[in-house]
Amino acid sequence: MIEPQSPASVLDALTQVRAADPPTHGGRVLSYVYDHGRPELDELAARAATMFLPVNGLDPTTFASVAVLERDLVAFTREVLHGDESVVGSVTSGGTESCLLAVKSARERWLAAHSDSTTAPHAETPRLVLPTTAHPAFRKAAHYLGLARTEVPVDPHTGAVDAQAMLAAVDDSTALVVLSAPNYPFGTMDPIAQVAPALAARDVPLHVDACIGGWLLPWWPGHEDEWDFAVPGVTSMSTDLHKYGYAPKGASVVLYRGRERHRAQYYATTEWPGYPVVNPTMLGSRSATSLAASWAVTRALGTTGYAELVQQTAHATSAVRKALSGISGLTVVGRPAAALLAVAADPARAPAHQVDPFALVDAVRRHGFLLQAQPAFTQPDHTALPRTAHLTLTPVTDRVTRDLVAALRAGADEVRGLSPRAPDPDLVAQVATEGLPEEMAPVLATLEAMDPGDAAAALTGLLASVIDPDVALGTPGRDGTSMHSGER
Ligand SMILES: *Cc1c(COP(=O)(O)O)cnc(C)c1O
Repeated sequence: MIEPQSPASVLDALTQVRAADPPTHGGRVLSYVYDHGRPELDELAARAATMFLPVNGLDPTTFASVAVLERDLVAFTREVLHGDESVVGSVTSGGTESCLLAVKSARERWLAAHSDSTTAPHAETPRLVLPTTAHPAFRKAAHYLGLARTEVPVDPHTGAVDAQAMLAAVDDSTALVVLSAPNYPFGTMDPIAQVAPALAARDVPLHVDACIGGWLLPWWPGHEDEWDFAVPGVTSMSTDLHKYGYAPKGASVVLYRGRERHRAQYYATTEWPGYPVVNPTMLGSRSATSLAASWAVTRALGTTGYAELVQQTAHATSAVRKALSGISGLTVVGRPAAALLAVAADPARAPAHQVDPFALVDAVRRHGFLLQAQPAFTQPDHTALPRTAHLTLTPVTDRVTRDLVAALRAGADEVRGLSPRAPDPDLVAQVATEGLPEEMAPVLATLEAMDPGDAAAALTGLLASVIDPDVALGTPGRDGTSMHSGER
């Protein structure tokens, strides 16, 4: 039995649960959220979403409005990414769905090309070739869609993948090659213009994952290489509206060069007693709220609006990078292309002068900023990528650069020379019953040292308990504690 509540008390309750979240505005959280710093844009997105709350995006022939908005967004996005009139695509629920669909399309086309009835059907499994730094959405796609994977190691010091190494991994089983613009962990660019021509010559498709970079790089100062549809061998791209497109969560675009590639993403059937089914994306019924909000935000900003916001982001990024290079014991990994970067302990310094990234994340949180810890990773060739602290900078960072830099400096000073926390296997059980502790470094060190299969199981256990009605876990809102000053 659930007692009915008045709307006022329902909203009160929602306000209370939201109070446990870290601030989504104000530049305090350096991942997950992308703050443009313009309240009127949030207002506009909210009004647009409200107008489309009752609409079902499942059927754009019934809800013609959905077709209009989606067509406009596809057209705007392909213009931004230098696609000509042969480039078409869909609006999806997010980057993961865009990546899944690009892989599905490539798989269908590979299977069609390899289904020669005179030989055993698909004696080989279609394969994805990708650097280790590619987003896990592609590993997930391979897992869901039954593809094999070849993961190409990147340079452990710079995060860069070698073009020849990528090409050497390609063979007849390759259904799709994936490169990122830029990759998420280190924010560095993959060699798209170097790899694309050779792939095109072999008729192997190339997906450029610009989920994070697609609404940044077109306006980022000082870009050298081409990386989008301007490069002839690029056959598909993903780019997220809900990141640097500044739409509310739930919107991304996947684009293909050639209508056949786009159509291979669809699922359609008349083989049931109900209505004829045609689903462009993974979902059936789908919300049109984020579509409408994205449309509204992109229209309101226009290309000049994006250019201005990128200007602010680039300004903040160069200030933060400059400050980081002056903090001893830390080093920025590789050459970040835009607003994402990762810092590792400086291998050129003696341990007594190094800053451990996990300890840094905990210390900087105490100073009011939330960085993202990235555990060390052993690649297929047994080289190891270092543990890092990740920062995603946004336009609003430009208003808090001074505070952020002070927090980074103070945090680094507090932990410099401390020996990194040792893994503690007992922590896994403890976290599962008590929730996450204030100090995350030991938890991350433990996770980092675990067998990847065990780590995945432990993470699944933790996340499942967080939403389990029968498990009373410690507050998952830990990160919100001292960080509400920037909220508006
Ligand atoms: C965020 C991201 C994705 C996945 O996007 P979601 O919207 O989180 O599903 C894929 N690739 C890159 C490079 C990303 O940054």
